[in-house]
Amino acid sequence: MSLLAAAAALAALGAPALRVTLTPSRAPQGGVVQVTVASPSPPLASAVLVDGERRIPLERLDGGRRFAGLMGVDFETKPGERPLVVEGVDAAGVPVTATATLRVVPRKFGVSKLSVDPRFVEPPPEEKERIERDREAFRKAFASPLPARLWEGRFTSPAKAPSQGNFGAKRVYNGQTRSRHAGLDLSAPTGTRVAAPAAGVVVLAGEFYFAGGSVVLNHGGGLMTMYFHLSRIDVKEGDRVAPGQLIGAVGATGRVTGPHLHWAARLGGARVDPAALLTLPARPASPPAGRPPRE
Ligand SMILES: [Zn+2]
Repeated sequence: MSLLAAAAALAALGAPALRVTLTPSRAPQGGVVQVTVASPSPPLASAVLVDGERRIPLERLDGGRRFAGLMGVDFETKPGERPLVVEGVDAAGVPVTATATLRVVPRKFGVSKLSVDPRFVEPPPEEKERIERDREAFRKAFASPLPARLWEGRFTSPAKAPSQGNFGAKRVYNGQTRSRHAGLDLSAPTGTRVAAPAAGVVVLAGEFYFAGGSVVLNHGGGLMTMYFHLSRIDVKEGDRVAPGQLIGAVGATGRVTGPHLHWAARLGGARVDPAALLTLPARPASPPAGRPPRE
């Protein structure tokens, strides 16, 4: 069927044509994709991006004529074509769908060989319980609900510190291969100021076996960022933080070879390169929840 014929068939069904744009449409492993959906007529009440098992709610803009959101590509995603579906519902409750294809391109990740205190490679049995408790605390923080996006504008780096470019690196500790490095290390001496890169809510703040002094921020819209190995924590769980607000200081706590900031990000559960957040364009303020702004 030609495009015109398809459009005519859709018009005959009364289904509006949704236009889905992915920026970029070819994304690296660990990348962040901006998703926009245009619904020229009629406006939609809601729209969700479906990526396999994941459902990513999109933000309603321009009275339902436009939707926007961010999709994370987990760094261990298999390269290749990834079919996506946008599921919308119009004001009358009629479902409207559209499809798009994201091309995930492979990214080269390095290998880091590190020497650390042996207790961080083979933790002593008496620490097992604590490590399990830590895991549970992180699981709980990652599950904290916060559907609406809290941030506006652009993300800024959490510390004045050069990046080691080691996101996703394979890790070999004292000669033993361990899980991949799901964050990015920024080199800075102990005491360097760590600031929130954008507005958010503190969903975890405390001391952990591997991560040391840690803060997890929930920025809403499915985005969380993490700060590990801190020497000092200046916020507590439940605090709302403004962009640039002090949250702690760089340190060398937990499984480390020296002082640095481990910065990590999860978007809809996908582990993404936090550096990708810094290149996102500014985002407008969220429309107030509940009532749509103007029709
Ligand atoms: Zn790290």
